[in-house]
Amino acid sequence: MKNCEYQQIDPQALTVSPLSVQNHTEKKAQRPRRKWEVFPGKNRFFCDGRLILARQSGVLPLTLGLIVVTCGLFFAFDCPFLVEHLTIFIPLVGGLLFLFVVLSLLRTSFTDPGILPRATADEAADIEKQIDTSGSSTYRPPPRTKEILINQQVVKLKYCFTCKMFRPPRTSHCSLCDNCVERFDHHCPWVGNCVGKRNYRFFYSFIISLSFLTSFIFGCVITHITLREYSQVISHLDSSWCTVVELVICFFSIWSILGLSGFHTYLIASNLTTNEDIKGSWSSKRGAEDSGNPYSYNNIITNCCVTLCGPMPPSLIDRRACGPDCPVVAVCSSPPPPTCPLLHPPDFLLQSLTRSLAVSP
Ligand SMILES: [Zn+2]
Ligand SMILES: [Zn+2]
Repeated sequence: MKNCEYQQIDPQALTVSPLSVQNHTEKKAQRPRRKWEVFPGKNRFFCDGRLILARQSGVLPLTLGLIVVTCGLFFAFDCPFLVEHLTIFIPLVGGLLFLFVVLSLLRTSFTDPGILPRATADEAADIEKQIDTSGSSTYRPPPRTKEILINQQVVKLKYCFTCKMFRPPRTSHCSLCDNCVERFDHHCPWVGNCVGKRNYRFFYSFIISLSFLTSFIFGCVITHITLREYSQVISHLDSSWCTVVELVICFFSIWSILGLSGFHTYLIASNLTTNEDIKGSWSSKRGAEDSGNPYSYNNIITNCCVTLCGPMPPSLIDRRACGPDCPVVAVCSSPPPPTCPLLHPPDFLLQSLTRSLAVSP
């Protein structure tokens, strides 16, 4: 705050001239850029850096479109018949599920998955020095690794040449987003983002709620068709093409969604990530010294609680802060503190006071 200066406003400066407009635009162009504007990863930011998305997120509109179109057709063409013949709770349950699915999807897509900021030049130089001094000066081993002990089990930390640091445990570098992500699970094109430490719980709630929604719509559509008489269906085939579209979408998506939900439920129960499961990081085949997953609490409920209900770690990239080209001088946006008229009297009060003292005997 010591660098903040308040200047007297020149009344002449209040008149807008073309020169001042030009200066204003120049100042705007020269304003300090925020970190998200100079972010080195392949991400896109929205709402002044509040929302983050992978650069290649073209499948996300397709995901949203499929959900919205299927639900729209369901509410428009199936619900009126089902409300009339069964219960009003069908559109209510469908609506709640739809809202939950869309909110979970958007939360997964626009949340920082747990990106680790890249090392600064000083930090990178410091790590390089440590690596150089640890080995001989002439020979440097090609794979830069560090070994640490987790639950009496040796875990190798790999060096990331892009982020210039040793990756913390369970961290992996996403080649599509070009970032190191904590507790990296996988890069999901359907949600247009990496799935990691900070958005895994939203991703899981998305696929679980989508399983319920797809099964619900599938069941309702089958009921709708069954309740109609066969001849009626044939005579209304033109008007019920929407029901057929819903049926086809649900039939082909339900198996993959249910399978994915089951797979992630297994991963959560064993405190594993998709990345670790695919690589077989903790499988017994990799060596006699590997005695299983060192991150597991050996209790399904604890594993589920830690993964889904643990405290939400803060975002480390601080994307709305000032970037490296931010000037040292702070910009004051708050008005100057109010002054007490008795302690700091205005000039005219001082003059009148002096005059009255001079007049008084
Ligand atoms: Zn990296
Ligand atoms: Zn990614």
